[in-house]
Amino acid sequence: MSLMKSALLGSALVLASGPVLAQQEQFITIGTGGQTGVYYVVGQSICRLVNRETSEHGLRCTAPSTGGSIANINAIKAGDMTMGVAQSDWQFHAYNGTSDYEGDPFPELRSIFAVHPEPFTVVARADSGVTTFEELAGKRVNVGNPGSGSRGTFEVVLEAKGMSMSDFALVSELRPAEQSAALGDNQVDAISYTVGHPNGSIQEATSTVDARLVTVAGEAIDRLVEENPYYAKVTIPGGMYAGNDQDTETFGVLATFVTSADVPEETVYQVVRAVFENFDRFKQLHPAFETLEPETMISEGLSAPLHDGAARYYRERGWID
Ligand code: GLU
Repeated sequence: MSLMKSALLGSALVLASGPVLAQQEQFITIGTGGQTGVYYVVGQSICRLVNRETSEHGLRCTAPSTGGSIANINAIKAGDMTMGVAQSDWQFHAYNGTSDYEGDPFPELRSIFAVHPEPFTVVARADSGVTTFEELAGKRVNVGNPGSGSRGTFEVVLEAKGMSMSDFALVSELRPAEQSAALGDNQVDAISYTVGHPNGSIQEATSTVDARLVTVAGEAIDRLVEENPYYAKVTIPGGMYAGNDQDTETFGVLATFVTSADVPEETVYQVVRAVFENFDRFKQLHPAFETLEPETMISEGLSAPLHDGAARYYRERGWID
């Protein structure tokens, strides 16, 4: 006991005599996704804006690459990350304890704002002949890494279509940063990614091999969209990627920025402030951000309650009552 006490006292003394700045800085981490995706840019961009003002608010922000939505939500829940980017469907499930979160809800999950739309995207080698999701049966498919929202949503689509993993000749679980090369090297016929457009991953896939965006439609998808508020029908516009001049019909979610009720109000307030006080700059940091509007960012795709720090800033701006 006395040993522990003196050890504690010792560390307190070291802290007290350390540089003043080190004591004032508070480190925050934002969970993102693979480096060729858009979440990574969301996190890096937010941190860049926050870190410009560290001397004023004391926050120092980092945004490491992670496994994606579900990994981010779980890391926030465990207290390992301060904030993170997550698909609106997985935000909904985590908050409400449904789907993969059945029996394990995260009621302290809080939303901050929504970001860009993320179409459910499948890309197939032209030589595979696949043009619709159903035609993936019998093919080699990269379904994504466990922990990604993308993989989770892929499983939802499979079930809705009455298909299963055993319908594929091969199932691979490569991360986004690895899957485009695997498509180019003919290790798989198709890759999947729920992601904002345009992005580096699909750009790489379509420029290394002749590949087509695949149509994801039909009754099962109509039903998914009708029954679930976090899904919407979307079209990936033609002309974004080599060899894909046609529009591609699919459905999608929104990327959202989330945290926990345990994170102090002031911390979230300062992060939100940094983004919206520099909003034009933020929008320029990725083409998928070009069409963002504060109005929709604070109202759509958010099923968990707004964090108090975010609500405080939106109230100050007169965006909410
Ligand atoms: N929506 C993807 C996921 O949660 C990540 C997309 C990205 O990194 O831009 O797995």
